[in-house]
Amino acid sequence: MYDNEIKDILDKLDIFERAYDQIRLIDPIAKKIVEYKEKIVNETNFSCYHFWRKNKVCDNCVSMRAYRENDTFIKMEYTNDEIYMVTAIPIELNNRIVVLELIKNITNSMSVDVVEKETIEQRTEVNSMLDNIHNMALVDSLTGIYNRRYINERLPINIVNTTLTQQCVSVIMADIDLFKNVNDTYGHLVGDSTLIFFANVLKSCLKRQSDWVARYGGEEFLICLPGAGLSTAAEIAEQMRSKLETSEIFCGEFKFYITASFGISTMGPERNLSMEELIDAADKKLYLAKHNGRNRIEY
Ligand code: GH3
Ligand code: MG
Ligand code: MG
Repeated sequence: MYDNEIKDILDKLDIFERAYDQIRLIDPIAKKIVEYKEKIVNETNFSCYHFWRKNKVCDNCVSMRAYRENDTFIKMEYTNDEIYMVTAIPIELNNRIVVLELIKNITNSMSVDVVEKETIEQRTEVNSMLDNIHNMALVDSLTGIYNRRYINERLPINIVNTTLTQQCVSVIMADIDLFKNVNDTYGHLVGDSTLIFFANVLKSCLKRQSDWVARYGGEEFLICLPGAGLSTAAEIAEQMRSKLETSEIFCGEFKFYITASFGISTMGPERNLSMEELIDAADKKLYLAKHNGRNRIEY
């Protein structure tokens, strides 16, 4: 959709206003509501997530997904009292991509029994069902940690916050050494269990609530440490490396150890990198760690 079509739509907003409870334009990276006036997009001071009565950004941001994947996405979301359907449509306004959010309160229009003769338990059940659906989109089914999509949707936000809060963000890429040998020696099922074990070791070394780890793909994992400079990130990577090296894996009849290599990149407020550049820098260091003998950290 382009400018003139959007204008037509916005002019006819009363149709939409009848169909939806709230219509708003969002900058999903800044997490702000934007205004579109006289062909200019202006950011407001209003954070989009306040609508959900949260003090933090939503894990499952449907607008970020619409923005990243340039497609319309729909989700159901809840506050304490209400259930909503959110439709997120990416649109181009004045050479800038923003997301049109159409929000509909469906608490009373859901013709589901649990909602009609609702009790607190039933409401909790519906809410946790929605949480599960959201998690399914962002969690790697094998290891139970975040997936690649989470990286794509969360890392750009961490990067923007770096600039806003004048802090650093560090990214660690971790890759199991000679993992192919594990599969070849013990079989793929043991390989799968090893990936779960690896994910748990990485996770156990995180300290702050804002730190997160996700499966980048295969046996490669990404750790994001918002607010952490290079030395902090190197310390955490070293804890991961040494914990792994000294933890024996028990899997059925097999007992063995694995090691991993780590590459770190850091971005400070003075250095603006894209998500791709930050990951690429960590990946190059990881490659160096492999090249220099594995079971080591490079930064
Ligand atoms: P390097 O130290 O250079 O990283 O060597 P490597 O053997 O770990 O790397 P390579 O890229 O040669 O092999 C990665 C292997 O990871 C090959 C692939 O079959 C395996 N792998 C990727 N995803 C999965 C998975 O989900 N389960 C299992 N069991 N294996 C996987
Ligand atoms: Mg490997
Ligand atoms: Mg690899």
